[in-house]
Amino acid sequence: MAFENFLSDEQQIWRDTCNRFIDREITREYIRKCDMERTYYYEAYEKVAAQGWLGLMIPEDQGGIGGDAMDWVIFFEAMGKYSNDFSAATLGVSMYTAQALLHFGRADQVAQYIDAYLNAKVRFCIAISEPQAGSDAAAIRTRATKDGEDYLVTGLKQWCSGSSAKGAIIAMLVRTDPESTRRNGLTVLLVPNDLPNLELRKLNTLARRGTGTNQIFLDEVRVPGANRLGFEGQGWDIITSHLELERLSIAASMMGCAQQAVTDALQYAHTREQFGQTIFNFQVLKHMLADMQTKVDAARLLVYRAAGMHQAGQPCGREVSMAKLYASETLQEVTRNGVQIMGGHGMLPEADMERYFREGMQATVGGGSSQIMRTIIAQSMKKK
Ligand SMILES: Cc1cc2nc3c(=O)[nH]c(=O)nc-3n(C[C@H](O)[C@H](O)[C@H](O)COP(=O)(O)OP(=O)(O)OC[C@H]3O[C@@H](n4cnc5c(N)ncnc54)[C@H](O)[C@@H]3O)c2cc1C
Repeated sequence: MAFENFLSDEQQIWRDTCNRFIDREITREYIRKCDMERTYYYEAYEKVAAQGWLGLMIPEDQGGIGGDAMDWVIFFEAMGKYSNDFSAATLGVSMYTAQALLHFGRADQVAQYIDAYLNAKVRFCIAISEPQAGSDAAAIRTRATKDGEDYLVTGLKQWCSGSSAKGAIIAMLVRTDPESTRRNGLTVLLVPNDLPNLELRKLNTLARRGTGTNQIFLDEVRVPGANRLGFEGQGWDIITSHLELERLSIAASMMGCAQQAVTDALQYAHTREQFGQTIFNFQVLKHMLADMQTKVDAARLLVYRAAGMHQAGQPCGREVSMAKLYASETLQEVTRNGVQIMGGHGMLPEADMERYFREGMQATVGGGSSQIMRTIIAQSMKKK
C-alpha cells in the first residue's frame, strides 16, 4: 500500500501545498542562513501568517481555519523539513500557546491578542523551566506577589525559546501562593518581553539557533493583573492543556526533518564517487540508508496514529509520547548516519546535515526528554 493511502485526497493536497510552500516560499537556503547567523525567522513567520496558517487550529468564527490534528501534523511535517527549530519552536510554540489562550482567556484577552497574533503583530512563547526546574517542572520558584491590581514578578527563567523576538508575549508559569508546593499555587501570566526590570540574556546553544533561547531575569517586574490567564492556581492545568498538541507538533517536525536527512544522504550517495563508483554501490551504505528510511516510516506511522487518536477524541498520552520518543531518536540516529555517509562534506553548513544533526541532539532533551517519555509510556504499562 502506498504511504499516501493513509491520507485522504484532501489531506494529500494539504501536504503537497505545505511542501511546495516551504520549498518555494521559505527555502532551505533561508533556513540555513538564519541558523548560521542566529537570526530569527521573521520573514518566514510573516509568510506563514499571510497564508492564514497561524490560525490552523483556530475556529473559523474566530478568524482561523478550523483544522484538525491530522492537518496539524501534516503541516508540521512539511515545515520541519529543513529545520525542527523553525517548525517546532518558532511556529509550534506560538500556535499551541494561542490555543491555550483561546481556551482559558477572557473575552477581552482573546480580542486583544488573537487578531494581533493572526497578523504576526504578536507571537507567543513559554517560560516554564528554571535553573533548578527542568524535567521536574513543578519545582519552579519564580514568585508573583499581588501589589494592588498588579503582580510583581521576581525570579529567573531558563531556556525561553523565542522570547527575544519582537512582539513576543511570554506565557510565564509563576508561583502565586508562597505556601504552595509542586503543582499547586501556580499561575500563568502573559508577560510582554519589553517590560521594565525584565532582562533577556541569549544562550549560545548547540541547536535552536534561529528562534534563539534566553534566560529571563525578573526583578519585581510589574505585570498588570489583567494579564493573568485563567485564575490563580490554574497554572499547571493551563500549561499542560496543550501538551499533546505540543508533542505532536514536535514529533511531526522531527519526523519531517529526519525524512529530509535521508533524502539528502541518499542523493549524496548517488552522486559521490570513490574507487570508481558511486558510494551508494557499497552495500554497507545501502543497508544504512535502508535502515534510516525504515525508521522514518515507522516514526511517521506513530505520528499519524497519535494524531488520528487525538482527532477522534481518544486518550492518547501514551501514543503521543511514543511518537515524540521515536521521532526524536530517529532524527538523532539518521542524522548521525547522514553525516557519516556524507563524510567531510556532511560537516559543512551548506550540506545542512550538520544542522539536522545538532537539532537531533536537542530533540531528545526539549519537550520532555527521552527518559521522561519512556517513564510516561511505562506508567501506562502497569500490571492490570
Ligand atoms: C534549546 C532549548 C530550548 C528550550 N526551550 C524552552 C522553552 O521555550 N521553554 C521552557 O520552559 N523550557 C525550554 N527548554 C527546557 C527544556 O524543556 C528542558 O531542557 C527539559 O525539560 C529538560 O530539563 P533540563 O535540561 O534541566 O534537564 P534535567 O531535567 O536536569 O535532566 C538531565 C538528564 O536527567 C534525565 N532525567 C531527569 N529526570 C529524570 C527522571 N525522572 N527519570 C529519568 N531520567 C531523568 C533527563 O532525561 C536528562 O537526560 C529548552 C531547552 C533547550 C535545551
